[in-house]
Amino acid sequence: LLEEIIQEAELKAWSLYVVGGIVRDLFLLKKNQKILIQDIDLVVDSNTSPSNIGAGIELAQTLKKRYPEVLLTVYHDFKTASLSWNKDKKYGSVQIDITTSRTETYLYPSANPKIQIAPIEQDLFRRDFTINALAVKLTSPAQGKLLDLFMGLSDLRKAQIKVLHPNSFLEDPIRIYRAVKFAIRLDFDIEAQTIQYIYNATKNQTYDHLKLEVNIIPSLTIRLKNELRSILQSNSWRKSLELLSCFGALYYLYPGLILNCEILRQMRYVSRLMKYSDPHHKTIKWLLLLEILLSSIPLKERKIIAINLQLPSESIKRLSEIQNINKEINQGLRKYSKISDKVNLLNKFYWIDLILVAAQSKKEIRYFIWRYFTKLSKISSPLNGSDLKNIGYLPGPRYKEALTILLDKTLDGEIKTKQEAKIMVQT
Ligand code: ATP
Repeated sequence: LLEEIIQEAELKAWSLYVVGGIVRDLFLLKKNQKILIQDIDLVVDSNTSPSNIGAGIELAQTLKKRYPEVLLTVYHDFKTASLSWNKDKKYGSVQIDITTSRTETYLYPSANPKIQIAPIEQDLFRRDFTINALAVKLTSPAQGKLLDLFMGLSDLRKAQIKVLHPNSFLEDPIRIYRAVKFAIRLDFDIEAQTIQYIYNATKNQTYDHLKLEVNIIPSLTIRLKNELRSILQSNSWRKSLELLSCFGALYYLYPGLILNCEILRQMRYVSRLMKYSDPHHKTIKWLLLLEILLSSIPLKERKIIAINLQLPSESIKRLSEIQNINKEINQGLRKYSKISDKVNLLNKFYWIDLILVAAQSKKEIRYFIWRYFTKLSKISSPLNGSDLKNIGYLPGPRYKEALTILLDKTLDGEIKTKQEAKIMVQT
């Protein structure tokens, strides 16, 4: 399909380039190493004056006509189109984004950029880092030619993250999150001057603009969430957060947000406990880590921030209610002395709430919830329905009652074997 896109562009005498992350990652490949390519970013330069503003969309639409099974999404405001396949045997899971080459002008720091169609050279200049501003020409003439206008290849060799111009982070503070993400993911250094530009940006008061931008798509807050998700999903989330905090970049999430030892401890706890409590923990771990981070923000603002970040509704609800749930569980666990009462109390809550409560509670409560997840919640009644039937119980409500009593007594250590359970039921 990529070949057909190239042919179609050549027919129209347009120049097509593959840009960004995929070019970077291909240059980083070691001998015999393989990568799974899932996102391909293409840029088309229509070489005409005035340029064909919708060239990218036009290419995508032509391909959609030939391959109806491909999903086409068009973003008219941004003159981009996206072709995607769901996982199937023939193509695997791939997304191709096609944009028309453009410049971006920021009317004020952190504003949504004004887009104007421009040649590929200017398109590369709007990019975040030199290593992400590499492009390879896919169409003839000069097919396969590398465009490296900002020494990106040299920075790849030096293993460094470097911006293209001093105002980069002022224009788009989300690039600070991206700089940290790539530095930690690729084990690169952030170049000294670039670090200075980060500090210059974080000293600047741009938060009001961020608030104004809410709900403009793609708004800064949504992109901020996407970068945070990517960072928190990685195994090195802690290093990235520490670096962001050190740069003062958590400010963009909420002014005054600090990553202290206690928050880090809670986040580490959540990360560990999730392994025991849910096999699908990878999909939402990042969300719980974010919730812990946000829970240090005063309640009213916390809710607004969660809404602006467009977190899922259950996450927004949790962030608003977790203090009350915390109180109820802490009071209950302290009040009850029997293990079975404590377990029955915890059974009433959703497991995600329990994880957050455990992380934010004192040692003794934390320990009990840990035991609940790792051991107590897995204990079952020593007898099952057919055992009861064999003993002579008639099916009915007494079944459930007997099984509940047996489970409680097992939890409390009063019954240790199946034999003891049978004797108890018979008597
Ligand atoms: P990943 O491997 O995380 O997907 P990527 O580099 O492909 O990395 P994308 O977010 O898909 O990241 O972005 C594609 C390209 O778009 C980047 O390589 C970069 O050239 C450009 N880009 C993305 N975000 C920004 C930004 N905030 N400012 C400037 N350029 C950006």
